[in-house]
Amino acid sequence: MKSTNQKIPLHFPNGIELFIKREDQLHPIISGNKFRKLKYNIRAAKEQNKKTLLTFGGAFSNHIVAVAGAGKEFDFETIGIIRGEELQEKIQENPSLVVAQQFGMKLVFVSRDTYRLKDTPEFLEDLQSKFGDFYLLPEGGTNVLAIKGCEEILSDDDINFTHICASIGTGGTISGLINRAASHQNIIGFSSLKGDFLQNDIAKFANQKNWTINCEYHFGGYGKVTNELIEFINSFNLKHAIPLDPIYTGKMMFGIFDLIQNNYFPPNSKILAIHTGGLQGIAGMNIKLEKSGKTMITI
Ligand SMILES: *Cc1c(COP(=O)(O)O)cnc(C)c1O
Repeated sequence: MKSTNQKIPLHFPNGIELFIKREDQLHPIISGNKFRKLKYNIRAAKEQNKKTLLTFGGAFSNHIVAVAGAGKEFDFETIGIIRGEELQEKIQENPSLVVAQQFGMKLVFVSRDTYRLKDTPEFLEDLQSKFGDFYLLPEGGTNVLAIKGCEEILSDDDINFTHICASIGTGGTISGLINRAASHQNIIGFSSLKGDFLQNDIAKFANQKNWTINCEYHFGGYGKVTNELIEFINSFNLKHAIPLDPIYTGKMMFGIFDLIQNNYFPPNSKILAIHTGGLQGIAGMNIKLEKSGKTMITI
């Protein structure tokens, strides 16, 4: 499956061109990179005769919604271990969890302390004794099979781009891009979180060295936004009719525009930005923005 590259028809300085790969349009529910990350995992789960997918996520997680949607489409039971016990009483205020539940996902709320233990053998045993046999997908969906799926984001036609940009959460998507890219291409990951602990995770999976991580555009950290970011997202959508999400792709695109302005890219660079999806998260963010009286994201 191949998504279209759309040119952003702006006159950038120094002959720079910018295209956006519309991975957000791959699937109506299992959006963007989450579709790529699930593809080979779903196949493996079927091969192993698993009936249930179990995974982890935060309150507005794109991954949780994608797994719930994949369960419905490919006929699996799904269980989502959700960070934050307090959310249980407030599901109705959370569009992402409502949708996951509508797709049949069983939501299990755990405290933040318990959630932190999710990768320990004891926690896993506890889950197995409670829920029986399942296919485990890690938080954010990143594993070797997910990276294999993300290698399919790029196709042979993309060889002429000098720079490939994507947003980073766990680093799975960027690892797939790095593995698929040609050695003359530069891959730039824009971190959606504060801190540079991602470097090692990516180096573990990636088989080339032509990549950098930019940590300048996290806007205060994971899930944090500023008015400036929201206004950028709104004006981008108004000009180009391309919605961006506030957690990942909006921050990446803001970063790309800012780097172009600051002459980071050499003249005549041909940049491909990956729209990794995540648009389902806008509804939840808008509820938060409205509550605090801030500018909301127009859709
Ligand atoms: C999950 C997600 C990412 C981050 O992907 P990783 O593979 O975890 O780095 C980026 N963009 C969107 C829209 C996402 O939903």
